[in-house]
Amino acid sequence: MNDSATRPESVGPSEDGAQLRIEWKDGHVSFYPPRSLRLRCPCAGCVDELTGERMLTPGMVREDVHPLSIQYVGRYALQFHWSDGHSTGIFPFEYLRGLCPCSVCTSAPSGGSENSQ
Ligand SMILES: [Zn+2]
Repeated sequence: MNDSATRPESVGPSEDGAQLRIEWKDGHVSFYPPRSLRLRCPCAGCVDELTGERMLTPGMVREDVHPLSIQYVGRYALQFHWSDGHSTGIFPFEYLRGLCPCSVCTSAPSGGSENSQ
């Protein structure tokens, strides 16, 4: 994966406001349902650091959860402040790009496995 694929050109809400839109420097555009990102939160409170086991289950997250604000963390990640008060999750760009739910990315063989660290 080249560098431009993991660098966002712009980050913001989709036109209808229902999803998070990230346009990448390689021209790819990703749309993320907010709840799916919340469920993928990689922080130590949501994933056991030692075992990698996900402690956050879908039943723990409201259907209407959404980011109240999004901050850049250095040059490598985004930090979301969620409507449920959670804000410790830092999503590296590479991780976000790997989560792109579009048909092109989900069918790409280089996408990596669910459990890769
Ligand atoms: Zn978390």
